[in-house]
Amino acid sequence: MEQIVKKSLPNPFSKKLDELLANSWIQVENKHPPNLYDTVMNTKEYKSNFRVLLLDEQENRCCYCMRDMSETEVNLEHIIPNKANKDKYAEYANEPIDQSGFVHKDDFKPSRSEATYPAYPHDIAYQNLIAACETFPHCNCTSNNSRGSKFMPTFTYYKGITKALLVSSSGELRFTSVSNFDEKYLGIKYLNLNTDMLKLFRATWRFACSSYTIEDLKSADERKRMDFLMEAYPLVKSEKDTFELDNEGIWHEFLRYSWFYDYFKNSLTI
Ligand SMILES: [Zn+2]
Repeated sequence: MEQIVKKSLPNPFSKKLDELLANSWIQVENKHPPNLYDTVMNTKEYKSNFRVLLLDEQENRCCYCMRDMSETEVNLEHIIPNKANKDKYAEYANEPIDQSGFVHKDDFKPSRSEATYPAYPHDIAYQNLIAACETFPHCNCTSNNSRGSKFMPTFTYYKGITKALLVSSSGELRFTSVSNFDEKYLGIKYLNLNTDMLKLFRATWRFACSSYTIEDLKSADERKRMDFLMEAYPLVKSEKDTFELDNEGIWHEFLRYSWFYDYFKNSLTI
């Protein structure tokens, strides 16, 4: 993971949100429709707009597993779950998420349509949304699916989150002992970032960074790929691994995790 630094407001995201909120205002009733999330975010045109803006901010990578993503693969992930009630919402009070630009969705009750809003409902607010991949069952980056409304630290906003995580030689992601984060967040009930496939991908990138470049691997034809794997497998693949990187689809998937190449190059290994 890598720290995501959000832009201050107003920004292209909030301006688009202002436009959507203005359009959804019901003049005769003098209010917004009751479920703004569905009205504002759940439309194809606007989901697409927000996906592009967030992907750009994250250099086209998933906020949790660091997989390269294209716009159509992006899920808009809520840091504070969209269905969190006020008690659950309050658990984020001391987290490093800038809450100056939003309120709990139940507290968003403007009396008139505004040109810009001082605070947006949390389920559609820019600071509460990040781009995550949808690769279940390989990971649970769309974590609302698995954790429901349970609390999870706002990992991607922690300064130094990259250093709080270590990758073992077998590709397993762990928190450092000083980070104080519970290992359960990496497990199956939360982000599920230690699946066999993800571990194999990471271990293979760790091996690759010693004598290959990312470009070597991205441009490798089938023969070069096999040569590389013959060299890598004895060091990275365990007997229980059933995934074969010589399968073109899986190789392509592996290449999307090249963020780990630089990660290992920078010697953050244990
Ligand atoms: Zn992901």
